[in-house]
Amino acid sequence: MPMTSDRFAPPTPAADGRDNLVGLDRDGIAAAFAELSLPRFRANQVFKWIYGRGVSDFADMTDIAKETRARLADRFVVARPGVSRAMASIDGTHKWLVRLADGNEVETVHIPEEDRGTLCVSSQIGCTLACQFCHTGTQKLVRNLGPAEIVGQVMLARDHLGEWPTTETPSIQQRQLTNIVMMGMGEPLYNFENVAAALKIVMDGEGLAISHRRITLSTAGVVPLIRRCGAELGVGLAVSLHAVTDEIRDRIVPLNRKYPIAELLDACRTYPGSRNSRRITFEYVMLKDVNDSAADARGLVRLIEGIPAKVNLIPFNPWPGAPFERSSDAAIERFAEIVRRAGYPSPVRTPRGEDILAACGQLKSDSLRAPRHAAG
Ligand code: SAH
Repeated sequence: MPMTSDRFAPPTPAADGRDNLVGLDRDGIAAAFAELSLPRFRANQVFKWIYGRGVSDFADMTDIAKETRARLADRFVVARPGVSRAMASIDGTHKWLVRLADGNEVETVHIPEEDRGTLCVSSQIGCTLACQFCHTGTQKLVRNLGPAEIVGQVMLARDHLGEWPTTETPSIQQRQLTNIVMMGMGEPLYNFENVAAALKIVMDGEGLAISHRRITLSTAGVVPLIRRCGAELGVGLAVSLHAVTDEIRDRIVPLNRKYPIAELLDACRTYPGSRNSRRITFEYVMLKDVNDSAADARGLVRLIEGIPAKVNLIPFNPWPGAPFERSSDAAIERFAEIVRRAGYPSPVRTPRGEDILAACGQLKSDSLRAPRHAAG
């Protein structure tokens, strides 16, 4: 798969020669510690401090001997990506422009709701898929994000929301960050290894401790990796379907030419762990006169028959120069009604953070792909 080639790999961070521990699991930390001849349990302790408590200064790791803390600080750092700009929407949505060690940028969005708060996390800088209605799709893939950059987005959100548990407040009752959706920039299944490494740390009870039940991974339909996503991560699956005929889907989601609708739905039917309590979410962007007719809705119902599913209707979010219009409210309602009558919940997603270009499909960074044979 070209997307996992070295050309798109994240750079190894080595700012001042010290290695970053963020992104490493217990085994990774233990391996890094081996050269200092530290016992295994030190790695476990540090894991908890970094991901469970959000501590970035070794001096604050109080159950480790002072002298050992100093040796660690000589050799390692605990660094998350920086935030170059934070934007707040009038509806409470936040968008953070995340600055990576090599100067590239991605976007992370926090969407507060009454009973939960969802963090929308990016997996790549840019994207290869070029879905016609998606702003990120107009940006070439610059590179994959590494585990540190993916888990780092969740950590910096906790920093900004002030939500790290402390000894006094081990569990925060009314959290602002309860759920994660891998729905930011990029195709997470084209960066599966790094996304999986990061999500394992996020789900770890001594790590960020966000349950797999509260995590949803969204894919445009990378069929060969869908099963692994369910089997190895057990997270919820969202599929960006957006059309019910291959003819239309080939055009608006070009990945369909590689993995057509029938193959995609087969993978959904056998998604490990899909049952009524864990429905598959089908996302469907409502594009005026493209995919929003009553016949399309009936076609959708036929396609997903037998799959425990929910259909999220996303009114198209415009961006500068976009070649589509949002369907009318009446068309969206008519579509939703047909899907609901067939027994599938079909919520219409209210656009959030539109005023700061933070809504679905509006994310785009200024990062550019370096010329292939760049000097240096
Ligand atoms: N590559 C993954 C992750 C992106 S998730 C995927 O395709 O699923 C972002 C979701 O927003 C996808 O369902 C995407 O199709 C949808 N989307 C993209 N652009 C949009 C737009 N302009 N308006 C509404 N939804 C959009």
